[in-house]
Amino acid sequence: MKKQRIIIIGGGSTGLSTAINLAKFNENEIIVLEKSFVGSGQTGQCCGFVRTFYNKKEMAFSAFKSNQEIKRISKQNNDIEYIKKGLLVINSLKNKNLLMENIKMLRSLGIKAEYLENKQLNKINPYIKTENSYAGFDPEAGYVNSRLVVDYLKNQCENLGVKIIENTKVLNIRLKKKIFYIRTNKGELKAAKVFNATAAYSNKINSFFDFQLPIKIVKTNNCFYRLPMGPQRFTTAIADFVNLFYIIPHKEFIDVSSLTVDLKKQVNPEDKNIYRLDENASKQYLNIISKRIKNAEKSSLLGGFGSCIDISPDYYPILGKIDEVPNFYCATGFSGTGFKHFPMIGILMAETILEKKPTYPNLVSYFNYKRFEKEKEKERKKVTDSYFVKK
Ligand SMILES: Cc1cc2nc3c(=O)[nH]c(=O)nc-3n(C[C@H](O)[C@H](O)[C@H](O)COP(=O)(O)OP(=O)(O)OC[C@H]3O[C@@H](n4cnc5c(N)ncnc54)[C@H](O)[C@@H]3O)c2cc1C
Repeated sequence: MKKQRIIIIGGGSTGLSTAINLAKFNENEIIVLEKSFVGSGQTGQCCGFVRTFYNKKEMAFSAFKSNQEIKRISKQNNDIEYIKKGLLVINSLKNKNLLMENIKMLRSLGIKAEYLENKQLNKINPYIKTENSYAGFDPEAGYVNSRLVVDYLKNQCENLGVKIIENTKVLNIRLKKKIFYIRTNKGELKAAKVFNATAAYSNKINSFFDFQLPIKIVKTNNCFYRLPMGPQRFTTAIADFVNLFYIIPHKEFIDVSSLTVDLKKQVNPEDKNIYRLDENASKQYLNIISKRIKNAEKSSLLGGFGSCIDISPDYYPILGKIDEVPNFYCATGFSGTGFKHFPMIGILMAETILEKKPTYPNLVSYFNYKRFEKEKEKERKKVTDSYFVKK
């Protein structure tokens, strides 16, 4: 069979994982074009947190399978440590039924999710204020260093013959007689198929074909605090849906971000200012976490950073073939939770691009962008996060 050239734009976890899965079939020439260096986008900025606690079985299943692969990678590579923390998903008592439904669904997939009454919360973490709260517990949740994972993925790509071309920005694409002409800052390349794996930048690439996906790019802030004596032993990650914050504990500090996003305030990922921490965020976050963690108000700020994420209308990724442009594919709308799915995304996208029989056909249809056009899928548009469906 004649080898085709497939070009992947974007060298993050999505692009690299897909490149590996494409190259395993050894049928095509695979090239990854990255405007800066691999992992320079959200993948390198992300917390590398891995959870299986989701409100939809498709997301939970994808995370569960991916988690197994991430743990396998960690076992085989001494430097990529999987740091198990456990995740408490806290909500107020009035939403208890939603949580119970979620836990039932997660358990049906073999995920070890637990339900905790407020007194039990303090057994997991004595520094949590538990009034009127209860939690779901995802005991296997933890994190890996995403930059080390990128090194691993890059290495795998190179071993499989994938060409990774860094510092090469795609400036324009034309499609003529089934050939893509890709103009970059270093010259033109031709390809038979193109995969747009640029996440927050995806609509910039889609615009070359007068096509847009329904995603919004919003700014995020991450603040690092050193907790005072006592709470510094804080060991569990928290997604708090009462006070709307997220905490990932590290050895010397906690990493705090918000669970709310203002979809009206969209940003341009190319604007360098968004990568700076907003001045008011560090005070705001300290106030919020003090409502949940005893003595947190005495913490000291160690620093932080700003970034941006790509939000889809239902907070689930958009993955697949773009029908309007032949042989063009896109993955975006990860809504701040795309890294942990990279093993599954790699399989789904590679099989779609190569038109192979899908291993997970349900997921292929679930993540397709056409879902937003279907009347029966309107329910999914009401989602405001990927943990709970608010009724
Ligand atoms: C602060 C933060 C924390 C996060 N924490 C977590 C977490 O704990 N767990 C989790 O699962 N997810 C997390 N996420 C989300 C996760 O990081 C992303 O969903 C995931 O990494 C997306 O990977 P990607 O490869 O699709 O995109 P990216 O990693 O953003 O890669 C896209 C690449 O495309 C390149 N590119 C863009 N335009 C062009 C062009 N014209 N030409 C060539 N290259 C181009 C960019 O330089 C970039 O490297 C977090 C995100 C942020 C911002």
